[in-house]
Amino acid sequence: MIAEVVSVGSELLAGQIANTNARYISEALAGVGVPVMLQTAVGDDVGQIERVLRAALGRADVVVVCGGLGPTHDDLTREAVSAATGRLLERDAGLVAGLERRFARMGRTMSPSNRQQADVPAGAVSIDNPVGTAPGIFLEDEGRLVYVLPGVPDEMEAMMRGFVLPDLSVRTGGSAIVTRTLRTAGIPESDLADRLAGVIGPNVGVYASEGEVRVCLTAPASDAGGLPGLEREVRTRLGSLVYGEGDTTLERVVSGLLRQRGLRLAVAESLTGGMLASRIVGVPGASDIFVAGYVAYSARAKIRDLGVPPDVIERHGLVSTETAVAMALGARARAEADVALSTTGEAGPSPAEAAVGRVCVGLSWEGGDAAWTFGMGGGREMIRRRTCTYALNRLRLWLLGDPGLG
Ligand code: ATP
Repeated sequence: MIAEVVSVGSELLAGQIANTNARYISEALAGVGVPVMLQTAVGDDVGQIERVLRAALGRADVVVVCGGLGPTHDDLTREAVSAATGRLLERDAGLVAGLERRFARMGRTMSPSNRQQADVPAGAVSIDNPVGTAPGIFLEDEGRLVYVLPGVPDEMEAMMRGFVLPDLSVRTGGSAIVTRTLRTAGIPESDLADRLAGVIGPNVGVYASEGEVRVCLTAPASDAGGLPGLEREVRTRLGSLVYGEGDTTLERVVSGLLRQRGLRLAVAESLTGGMLASRIVGVPGASDIFVAGYVAYSARAKIRDLGVPPDVIERHGLVSTETAVAMALGARARAEADVALSTTGEAGPSPAEAAVGRVCVGLSWEGGDAAWTFGMGGGREMIRRRTCTYALNRLRLWLLGDPGLG
């Protein structure tokens, strides 16, 4: 079985948004043994979408379409699917009732364009949308499987997990691929590959992004017996570098550890400007473990708002382990938290305080403190994101009682 992905949206062609949906869908389909052979992006034009769909249906066994399903798009994708498959749109009364209930729960009245979301091509079934209003569409057309999903990434992903992947797994039976992902932080891709020398091969791959490296173990379901042994070997070689598995995140793991230990966190941020706090607050239940975040960007703000002694900055500079520790100490005291994490560094593009990419992370807890300096490449945004990952990983290792590692 081979698949194609068709992404609908003029913003994709204009370069206004990145086609992250196609990436997600392709990776997820590969995970169930259905490789993607072609990805197409097409603008909001019924004729164009129809042509692209006809071509895809002529080549692939599975076509996953995303975008252009919502009420703001006048149902272009719906119409194009109907035209490409020669099936008239029919209004699904059950779906109308479901949408009405959802709107009533939100205290809103349904507009005629919302009602159109209940139109499905004849013979199609709708895919439940647990996180939004636009239902998806599933259609079996002359032996080809067509899944039509909304463009909003959360909604698309929920439908992939809830419907498309289970459906395809059943259909592909024994040929499905079993994938297991181990997530690591605090080690560059090349060093990690060295540690896994002799293990990396057809069943084990490493992929880096934003300061993290994923180790993916894959095998056909018929030959997956060796994966547990392989996973044990990878875990033994990597130890506490592995922070989690599957689609967990570093902030989720750190939040869990803080909760387990009954500790409450504060953060003091300079170059990350709130990004670290935002990642932590993004994890549900953050109020149990997070007290406060302070963004203190200028030297004056660090002194005034976090109580960093001026002579520490004068003697050691803004980007120094001493300043990082003083920021963490100040945040912990001010927030009355148990532990505080700080970031200070030079995100560039022009060096002002220190070399671009030089970053210091500080940690303060009752009874001690620690700080680390590291250097990294990349643009301003990448440096800021990686700093958050690095800081969260330091906190994770400290929470595991392993502050020297990482
Ligand atoms: P709605 O009309 O209700 O917003 P929809 O199914 O019509 O939903 P689109 O309008 O196409 O979806 O996209 C909604 C939003 O989802 C876009 O503004 C964009 O932010 C995001 N999005 C759409 N397609 C993609 C894509 N291929 N990759 C990443 N994000 C996307």
